[in-house]
Amino acid sequence: MLEVHVLASGSDGNCTVIQYDDEAIMVDAGLSYSRTHKLMEAEGIDESAITALLVTHEHADHVGGAGPIARKLDIPIYCNPATFGSFNHGKSEYVMTQTLQRFGVGEFSVLPLPTLHDAADPNAYNITVGGKNILIATDTGAFTFPLRQALADADFAIVEANYDQKMLRDGPYPESLKRRIESDHGHMCNVISAKEIKDTASNENRKIFLGHLSKHNNTPDIARETVARITGIKRYKLDCLEFMGDTRTVDV
Ligand SMILES: [Zn+2]
Ligand SMILES: [Zn+2]
Repeated sequence: MLEVHVLASGSDGNCTVIQYDDEAIMVDAGLSYSRTHKLMEAEGIDESAITALLVTHEHADHVGGAGPIARKLDIPIYCNPATFGSFNHGKSEYVMTQTLQRFGVGEFSVLPLPTLHDAADPNAYNITVGGKNILIATDTGAFTFPLRQALADADFAIVEANYDQKMLRDGPYPESLKRRIESDHGHMCNVISAKEIKDTASNENRKIFLGHLSKHNNTPDIARETVARITGIKRYKLDCLEFMGDTRTVDV
């Protein structure tokens, strides 16, 4: 049994748990321990099965709860040294990883991939387990070549669809922030995300989950509509979190 639990995705917090039989790993911990604990309980996740916390980059929506969660669950934080040096993790145990160097955690084989984002050494994660490929790729202004390859090979992929271009331009953010988001080292809009999904579509069974939607500059409907129109994927097949506090469990 392989399940991906998306507990939170977006600038209020990111947290995903990947469960394979009785083993699990967590990717990012942007919520507090108590909030994460409640969500895991609601999703039926056995906290004691989690053996590692993988961190993508040091922004608060990804590491806000990392230190306390790693210590409460008594698990090490895995990330590259530039990332580990860029946030407050208290006295958590640490396992050093390197971008593009594969490592193992129990049954999971993990390849950290470079993303383009305004952080120290940001990574996406390509996780292979039980013969399936999972990709978690958010917080990137564009897709790098290894990201494209991983997206093509994925059975399940969380792909960032952060903003709708018109909503961002007409929206309330200051010009400097709009420019940061739109830059190659910011976030991906629905259209760019859709093009990457379309250009890598060879596996008919690949499941796409749209991640890190902005609550000011996007809506689930607009994201799904745009990606469906450009990729030709049926709308109902494009999943995403619908509202604050929503969670999803996907069978891979
Ligand atoms: Zn983020
Ligand atoms: Zn970020």
